[in-house]
Amino acid sequence: MTIYSASWVVPVTRPPIPGGRVAIEGRHVSWVGRPGDPGEPRGRVHDLGPGVLIPGLVNAHCHLELSHLAGLAERAPAGFVPWVESLMAERGPGSAEEVRAATRRAIRQLESTGTVAVGDVSNALAHLDLLEESHLRVVVFYELLGWDPGRAERILAGAADVMALAARPELRTRVKIAAHAPYSVSPALMAGIVRRGGPAAMHLAESPEETRFLAQGDGAWRAFLGRRGLGHVPFEAPGVSPVAHVDAMGGLREGMVAAHCVQVDEADCALLARRGVFVAVCPRSNQGLRVGMAPVRRLLAAGVRLCLGTDSLASAPTLDLMADMALVQSQFPELSPEVVVRMATLGGAEALGLPELGAIEPGRSAELAFVPASGAPPDPLRFLTSGAAQAGPLPA
Ligand SMILES: [Zn+2]
Repeated sequence: MTIYSASWVVPVTRPPIPGGRVAIEGRHVSWVGRPGDPGEPRGRVHDLGPGVLIPGLVNAHCHLELSHLAGLAERAPAGFVPWVESLMAERGPGSAEEVRAATRRAIRQLESTGTVAVGDVSNALAHLDLLEESHLRVVVFYELLGWDPGRAERILAGAADVMALAARPELRTRVKIAAHAPYSVSPALMAGIVRRGGPAAMHLAESPEETRFLAQGDGAWRAFLGRRGLGHVPFEAPGVSPVAHVDAMGGLREGMVAAHCVQVDEADCALLARRGVFVAVCPRSNQGLRVGMAPVRRLLAAGVRLCLGTDSLASAPTLDLMADMALVQSQFPELSPEVVVRMATLGGAEALGLPELGAIEPGRSAELAFVPASGAPPDPLRFLTSGAAQAGPLPA
C-alpha cells in the first residue's frame, strides 16, 4: 500500500480536504481522508509537499492523429473554412513515420500534463498500437465523413470492416462509431451511422459557417463544397440550427459526446439536455479558430452535462487540459471553479464511460495527478483554474 499526502486533496465528489491523504492498494484508491479520520490505514506516507492531489484529468475531445499539424491555426488564413482547407492540404503530405512520431510526442504530452484518459477522434485508426503502449485510457471515436450520399453505403461497409479489426479483445482501447459534423456527413451516411448505434461523438455547432449552411444552404461552406467537387450534391437546407438538424436525423444519442456547441441558443441547450448529450467544451481550439466560445453558463443552466477537451494540435496550442480549465474560468469568472474542475475530471469520465475515473474515492482508480504549488494554496479549486497551475503524473 502507498499513502500519499499533500496540502490539499481534491476528491471532486466531496469538498477539498486540507492536509488530505489518499491510500492506494494495487490499482485502486482504498481510503481518502485526513490524518486521524476513521479507517485510516497504517503505512509509509509519501508526502508530495505543497500542492493539490487531484483525479487524473480526462480530455474528452482530441485528435492525436493530427498532431503533426501542430501550429496550423496560426499558419492558416483566418476563418474556419480556410483552416479546414489548410488542414486537408497539409494532412496528406506527412509521411506515416512523421505522423507516428508526432502522435507519440502528443501522447507523452498528455501523460506529462496529468491526463489519464482521452476521447480520441480518428479517421485512420493507424495509431492504436501507440495508444496501447501508453499509460492512457483511450476511447477512440472512429469518425466517418462524406457529403456525397451516393458513397454512404460504401463508407459504412468499409467502416464495418475496419471496426471489426479494431475490436480485438486483447486491446484496452475501445473503438466507437462517430460522425464528423452535420455539414460534412450526408443525411444518408448519418442514417447509416444511427442504424449502427452511433454516433458516439461528433462535432456540433462549432462555427458560424456551419450554422449558416444549415440555415440557408449557402455561405463559405457551400462554396467550399463546390471547390471540392461536391457542388452537384443536392441539399435542401433544413433551415434549423445544427443541433435541431442532427436531432431530426436521430443523431442526438443519449451519451453522445458533442464537441464545441458554440452556436447554440436556449432551445438547442434544452434539446441537448433532454437527449442526454455530453458537450465537450474546447475553449482554446475555439479561440484559435476564432469561432466564439461555448455558452457554458447557458448550457449548465439547461442541465447539459459538460466535459472538457483540448481538440487537436491543429487548432489548440498544446494538449494541456489545465490551460483549457484556466480559459473557461477566465471567460466565465463568476463560474464556480468547482464546476470547471468537475468538467475536466468527473464530467469527462462520465462522457467517455469510464466510471472508475474522475474522482478520488475508495474503489475508484488510482490514476491521479499532482499539481505542485510554491506553498499551500489558500483555495485549491481556484488555484487549479488560475492558469498558474501545472498538473503532472504522480511521482513514482
Ligand atoms: Zn475536433
